[in-house]
Amino acid sequence: MFDAMTRYHQTLRDRQLSNTSTRRLIFETLLESGDLSMNELTAKLKGNVNRASIYRSIQLFEAAGIVRRLNAGWKYRLELSEAYSSHHHHLTCINCHRVFSFQEDNETAKAITKLAEKSGFEDVTHQLEIRGLCADCQRKNK
Ligand SMILES: [Zn+2]
Ligand SMILES: [Zn+2]
Repeated sequence: MFDAMTRYHQTLRDRQLSNTSTRRLIFETLLESGDLSMNELTAKLKGNVNRASIYRSIQLFEAAGIVRRLNAGWKYRLELSEAYSSHHHHLTCINCHRVFSFQEDNETAKAITKLAEKSGFEDVTHQLEIRGLCADCQRKNK
């Protein structure tokens, strides 16, 4: 069975990083919440951890491939990397910069792989970047 927590401990061990309570709290919070901005993450951890050590832990998590950064306008959001969550993509609104997650169907995933294979690639993985105007912003603009 896939267990994000086990993989997290394994990654820390492999990299000889200790599992401090700050790191564990951040990991658990991202695991529970999906994607968060730095402010939202800080707010959720309020009182428990200071901002500087949250920043340090996030940097370390990014370097270790535990966390990835989703750019949304000039801001960014944080989420656990695909090793810790199921394969999915994001739609970013060009107006309000909110990020929406979605999963493509199997057909689409296969079509992407096929395209890459036509160019002689194997062991194909992919990321998609999709931008547009979200439903809320469309309504407000009318
Ligand atoms: Zn929007
Ligand atoms: Zn995909």
